[in-house]
Amino acid sequence: MALKVCVGVDVGGTSIKFGLFTNNQDSGLQLLDKWEIPTNTSDAGSHIIEEIASSIKAKIADNKLLPENLDGIGVGVPGPVVDRSIVRSCVNLGWGMLDVRKALREALGETGEFAHINIVVENDANVAALGEYTIVSTRKAYRSLVMMTLGTGVGGGIVIDGQIMSGMNGAAGEFGHMPVLYDETEYCNCGKKGCLEQIASATGMVRLAGRRVPKDTIDRWSAGDSKQLTAKDIFDAMANGDSQAEAVVDEACSYIATALANITCVINPEVIVIGGGVSRAGNVLIDRIKKYYNEKAFSGCKDVEIILAELLNDAGIYGAATMGVTG
Ligand SMILES: [Zn+2]
Repeated sequence: MALKVCVGVDVGGTSIKFGLFTNNQDSGLQLLDKWEIPTNTSDAGSHIIEEIASSIKAKIADNKLLPENLDGIGVGVPGPVVDRSIVRSCVNLGWGMLDVRKALREALGETGEFAHINIVVENDANVAALGEYTIVSTRKAYRSLVMMTLGTGVGGGIVIDGQIMSGMNGAAGEFGHMPVLYDETEYCNCGKKGCLEQIASATGMVRLAGRRVPKDTIDRWSAGDSKQLTAKDIFDAMANGDSQAEAVVDEACSYIATALANITCVINPEVIVIGGGVSRAGNVLIDRIKKYYNEKAFSGCKDVEIILAELLNDAGIYGAATMGVTG
């Protein structure tokens, strides 16, 4: 039987990551090759799809494969996606409304040797959730997973029975904009006030520190490299025994736990994966989230596992490749 491969594509604002995987029924996805190209955002991002198509074609040839070996391509994009194909807008890429599947199919040659392949497009945070699901499912047969990504913003994704739940407008899993701060006076990037992202993202934690901690303490925490306070500075200060830093992390974790307790009441998932740059803080973060989660969660949802993401930057290509195979 011919070797079957699939490609996962993770389109970001600065680079596009690709993973070429073999897809074997027994062993699942195995990474064969991984590469990236810069994201060409010139001309309103109109060259991006063409460059994805040519990069995939070139790698298929480099790996001495034929178009017929390629089963599917999954693509994660930084914006809401409907019908597993259509983007309403991707600000970071310069895209307005775009049918990504159609455009990629055309770029690959609509009637040519790539015409048979399956193409699936989804929001990048949802795709990352599916990537983590793929990995945790190699250890145990999970049916439901929620991922929360704590990065510059807060995102997330929901996977039920191996399928991403993306919602009518592709906005399912947008946990960053759950209202949790009822007396917030500043606006979130989304135009509302009181979103989880305003306190639980890396920038949110920095903002919180600015409100709770005297300026001279902040200057001390951020005395290192950039002189600009980062979430990592706060975690470092906490690791050095600073109780004010610990209070900031505690407050952020308490709101993360509130959001998770709300999410689990609705989804009742088996596992929650915490990812994104802030998750590099590791178990000090997870342990605090668990502590507050146990205080806030409904009893029927308390036995959920809360774990750190494993794939980090590769979650996107694994999730996208999984979509490419499973459709
Ligand atoms: Zn918001």
